[in-house]
Parts: sequence; C-alpha cells; structure tokens
Amino acid sequence: MTFSIHGLAVARGIAIGRAVLVASSRVDVAHYFIQPDQVKQEIDRLSKARDAVVDELQRLQKDMPKDAPHELTALLDVHLMLLQDEELASGVRLWIEERFYNAEWALTSQLEIIVRQFDEMEDPYLRERKADMEQVAERVLHGLKGTGSLVTQARRPPRPQQELQLGDTMDVPLVLVAHDLSPADMLQFKQSVFTGFVTDVGGKTSHTAIVARSLDIPAVVGARSASQLVKQDDWVIIDGDAGVVIVDPSPIILADYGFKQRQGDLERERLSRLRHTPAVSLDGEKIELLANIEMPEDTKAAITAGAVGVGLFRSEFLFMGRQGNLPGEDEQYEAYRKAVDGMKGLPVTIRTVDVGADKPLDEARHDAAHLNPALGLRAIRWSLADPSMFLTQLRAILRAAAHGQVNLLIPMLAHGSEIRQTIALVEQARLELDRRCTAYGPVHLGAMIEIPAAALSLRLFLKHFDFLSIGTNDLIQYTLAIDRADESVAHLYDPLHPAVLRLVADTISECIAQGKAVSVCGEMAGDVTMTRLLLGLGLRSFSMHPSQILSVKQQVLRSDTAKLALWASQVLDSDDPASLMPS
Ligand code: PEP
Ligand code: MG
Repeated sequence: MTFSIHGLAVARGIAIGRAVLVASSRVDVAHYFIQPDQVKQEIDRLSKARDAVVDELQRLQKDMPKDAPHELTALLDVHLMLLQDEELASGVRLWIEERFYNAEWALTSQLEIIVRQFDEMEDPYLRERKADMEQVAERVLHGLKGTGSLVTQARRPPRPQQELQLGDTMDVPLVLVAHDLSPADMLQFKQSVFTGFVTDVGGKTSHTAIVARSLDIPAVVGARSASQLVKQDDWVIIDGDAGVVIVDPSPIILADYGFKQRQGDLERERLSRLRHTPAVSLDGEKIELLANIEMPEDTKAAITAGAVGVGLFRSEFLFMGRQGNLPGEDEQYEAYRKAVDGMKGLPVTIRTVDVGADKPLDEARHDAAHLNPALGLRAIRWSLADPSMFLTQLRAILRAAAHGQVNLLIPMLAHGSEIRQTIALVEQARLELDRRCTAYGPVHLGAMIEIPAAALSLRLFLKHFDFLSIGTNDLIQYTLAIDRADESVAHLYDPLHPAVLRLVADTISECIAQGKAVSVCGEMAGDVTMTRLLLGLGLRSFSMHPSQILSVKQQVLRSDTAKLALWASQVLDSDDPASLMPS
C-alpha cells in the first residue's frame, strides 16, 4: 500500500529505488556489488567467517572453567544457535545470489529484517535476544574484515529510469534509509552505490544535510520514523525538493515521478550551459561565486561548476572518523596543497578545524557529558584549548600557501582575547617554519561571523582581519537559540527573522564601508530564494556547494542590483520580511 512520509527537503531532485536500511553503527560496512560469477566465492567467504566464529565460541565453551556462571554457558549456547539459524543463513544467501550484494552488505540487510522481527515480539525475553543477534552478526562482520574482493565500492550503472518497473528485482538504483548518519558517515557515500537517502533525524542545516547537498543526491532528513516505517527492499521515491518520501508507490505515481526526474535532468543540462558565463548582474556588477568543499577531491566539482575559487574548505572533515589519530602536519599539508593545486591558481579559503556540536571527531571522542555541545568546546575554542594541535594545522596551511593563493579562516570567534591568541599562534607557526627553514606563503586572515556577539562587535574584528565570512547556519542557530540539527524545532529556524537579517546586513555594510572583503558561506548563500535579497543588501561574494552555483548564477544574471537595493532596505525595515519576499 502506498504511503508517504514528510521530512525536510535538503538536497534537490528525485531518486527512485529500493530501500536499503542501515543501522547507523553499521554504515561503515562496505557496500558493493559482486559479479555474477563471484557468487559462490562470496558465499564461501561468508561461510568461512561464520565457521570461524562457531569454532571460536565452541573453544570458549570447552575452556570454560567448571565454576563459570551458568548464564555464561547459556549465552554461548544462544549465540551458537543464532549463528546456525537457517533463516539468517538462507536470507543472507538470497541477497548475494539475487542482488549480488557483497557478503557484509548481505549480512547486514538480513540482520535488519530479523532485528525488526525481534522488535515486534511480545515476549520480553525473546525481544531481548535481538542484542544477541546483533552481537553474533558483528562477530561475523569482524571475521569478514580484510577478506573482501578487490572490487570494493564498484558502482553498477543503474538502468535508465524510464525502464523501471515495479516488478524489477535487479539492476535498480538503491536509496539508503537510516535513523541517523553522522557527517563522517556521509562522506563514505561519496563513492557509494546509493542514489538518494533518508534519515529520521536532522535539520536543514545540520552537517549531515550539508554533506548530502555536497553529494548532490536527493535527500530528505528529519523524516522522524522513516527507518521504522520503510522495510528493507521497499520501493521508495525520494522527493528532495518537497521533502517527501513515497513508499511502495503505485505504477501511476512511479511514472509521474519518473517524468519529474527527467524534467530535473533536463533543467540541469540547461543550467550547465551557464558554466562559462561570467556572473555579472544586469547592471554590470561582478559577483563572485565560490565553492564550499569538504575534501580536496571536491575541487573537481568546484571547477566543473565554474567556481572562481573555494570560499570555505571545511578542514575538520580531514580530522573526523579517525579514532583519535589526528592527521599530522605533512598529511594536512598534502591535503591542503592538493586543494590548492586542484583549483589551478584560483584562491582557496581554508577554515581551521571546526569540530564539536553535530560534528564529533568520532564516536569514541563524542563526549556526551557536554550537555550543550553547540555552546561548548567547539571550533576555535577547541583549537585554542590544544595549541600544539592548532599550530600543526596552521603550519600545514601556511606551507600550502607557498603553492597558491590561500586565505586562512577562523571559525566561531567571539572574544578579543581569542582573536589575540589566534593571531599570536599564527605568528608562532610562521616563526617555527622559519626556524626549520621550511617554505611557506602569505595568507589573508579572515574571521567567520557566526555568533551574534561577533556581528555586534565588527569594529574589533575589522581591526584585526583582512576579510569576514558570514556563517549564516550558526548565526541563525545562535541568534534564535534553535539547534540547527534538531528537526523538532526546524520550523523555527528562520533565515528571514528580522534580527538575523539585521546582523547579516550590518556585517555586509560595515565591511563595504571599511573596504574589507566580505562573503556569505552559510547555506543561505546557495539558496536561490535568498540570492536577490543578499544582492540587494550589497553582497558580492557567495560561497556554496558546487551543485548550487549554476542556479545562483542564473538568479544573478537576471538581477538588477541597484533596483534590488531599494527593495532590500524595505525588507530589512519590515517586522515581517517574509511577506515582502516574492512567492
Ligand atoms: C555556518 O555556520 O554558516 C558555516 C558555514 O559553518 P558550518 O556550517 O560548517 O558550521
Ligand atoms: Mg558554522
């Protein structure tokens, strides 16, 4: 039966495919397709891993001291029984034989089905066996590690959408459905087989949503109970424009969305013709359209989209999901240099690490003891709390600046003392490189304006910095006291709130008055419904995901900034700015 689930639209477009349900903790399990002639080999690999776990448990059972608690032996019995459970074995085999999933993926797919059956059991004792089943599967997954085939992450070309039939079982695109995904998990999807995704939690500007936007695949977040309502292998349509997920669509609905999907493809193709067109408004104002990137490889997409530089390299993605092994100076230098080289002489703005809040370094270091992580040891506060780590990053960035135009951007500053400490550490990093006789280059130093306190003390910031970059995602979060990652308050997250607009407008006009460069690098910069207002407020530099650049350029080409300035001042003075925005 067809039904729909409503969430928040975060990444444009339509994806149609079969649902793959993945528990957040299993996201880093490899997902790839095997070749039909590898089926037997993959089943053998799985059987070997399972047999090894059976052997291990039987050995443990044999060596158990006589006085061991009875519960322990009983637990081993349960685990052995579950391991040899026919439903698990035959289910996993089917995913391999019929869908050509690799063993790990097949095992986790079947596990999701069985776990759900456990959840539905009335008997509390049986319900609790779910944890045993998960432990057993984890052991087998562990046993499979390092025994995979060489074709990991191979991407099978999906069949053209118009050929999709509801009865299809093979060769169809897959969409991922999960309760939650961390930004680090999302990065794994860059080369994955999924063509869209849905999560239960998350806000529009949560970092998970931001990374989804950078992947440029249709996505819906904040869909509440989607991961419980959607079943493994259900047909699903993700409407990333409307924030709707349609489950088990009828053939008519499927055909309708297939049509919309093709329209979207055509629109993209049309926009791609603007790639080499300079971003100049109708009244001749040159507008700078820059790219936000997470990894050095993203510079390819930036160049393809016609970006004239990188306005925000979120360097923290180099630090995440590494189980505490932070990248050293050389590793960081190589990454920054790669980004600089990738931009072929265009400027690259590298932001120093901004971990904390919804960007934990890794699960182990995610300190739940901090009750308000967004207000805690985040971004520059984290860097200043560990000067040696910060100096390592600063040296790496300064070294990369020897290879091209680099701007150094500092996140989340609020206090004069933080500004002074930061500048002193940049100077110290230079001195250390001098002492080592290591080459480095000049950098422009910039601050992010993302805390209201910063937007209200611009004189202080402009005294010390060459440029400012407005981080509207956090500026909105902190001005309105709305957790940007919490879907339950997403309706209150309002870029058009008069207070937000006032802080953005004042920052732009103060920079213009003092002849300093200013840009917006929050999601507002890539939102086409905001382009004209920002132009009217005097903004001439926008930084956004490469996938948004051409749509924003189209708006720029159709705008007369002189006319927009008049209208923007009315919007700014209004108590209800939304009422003055074009519908
Ligand atoms: C912002 O806050 O607007 C910003 C660009 O930084 P991030 O989204 O990484 O917090
Ligand atoms: Mg921010």
